[in-house]
Amino acid sequence: MATMITADCINCGACEPECPNTAIYQGGVEWEMDGVKHPPLVADVFYIVPEKCTECVGFFDQEACAAVCPVDVCIPNPDIPETEAQLIERAKQLHPGTSFGADFPSRFREGGEAGAAPEAAAPAPAAAAAPVRSAVAVGPSLNLPAVETWEVPIDCHSCGGSYAVLFQHLRSGNVLRCPYCKGPYIVTTSLHNQISKVLREFHARWMTAFEELRERRQREMDEFEARQKAELEDINDQVRALSKSVLAPGAPKKRAWIFG
Ligand code: SF4
Ligand code: SF4
Repeated sequence: MATMITADCINCGACEPECPNTAIYQGGVEWEMDGVKHPPLVADVFYIVPEKCTECVGFFDQEACAAVCPVDVCIPNPDIPETEAQLIERAKQLHPGTSFGADFPSRFREGGEAGAAPEAAAPAPAAAAAPVRSAVAVGPSLNLPAVETWEVPIDCHSCGGSYAVLFQHLRSGNVLRCPYCKGPYIVTTSLHNQISKVLREFHARWMTAFEELRERRQREMDEFEARQKAELEDINDQVRALSKSVLAPGAPKKRAWIFG
């Protein structure tokens, strides 16, 4: 399937420079192919031209636009199903001077592993997002998100507006765009590493505390059950003793005769 951008796009612009095929355009902007310009497909949010999208087959092991989108609105287009063979063929047509080889990177490959990069110059492949571990639910009102899905708050240098990106998209070298003023925010290696350290240390501490709590609760529950079981047996013994104290119906009774 070609990738598409939904109407929930916040126009941050982060995806556009990531596309190896220049398939992404700003809303209202004409798209171009082979030197020919075409009317924009969408007026108000970023859009993807299906004829230019290869789902990053040939370049990356995942869709680069989806990997950086802070609001996860780059999704497979269910109306345009395509095979890997079709997509690599399109990549070859779009990049006639590029040799892709047999082990080209592709999201279709087992485990999503990337193959060798194509020989022609292409944007640096997006770092594969670490596997997303599920959030830990403690109670109805307290969930701990996995580190990769942690929402990192960003304050725009230009307008001061606040927005958030998932940690898995806070990759070194990424340029985030403020959704309010389009001001750039460049993610440095040092920033990524520092935030990663803080989040992972906190996550580990929290998980340890949570496991201790869970074990303590389990112990208390086991002790409670053992106490209740003993008390139940004791009550049953008492009830049995009471029931035994009553004579069975029809038991013979000695009669006293009075002779006078
Ligand atoms: S999936 Fe890849 S090729 Fe398609 S629009 Fe996104 S970045 Fe471009
Ligand atoms: S990264 Fe996502 S939100 Fe930002 S412009 Fe692209 S599709 Fe829209």
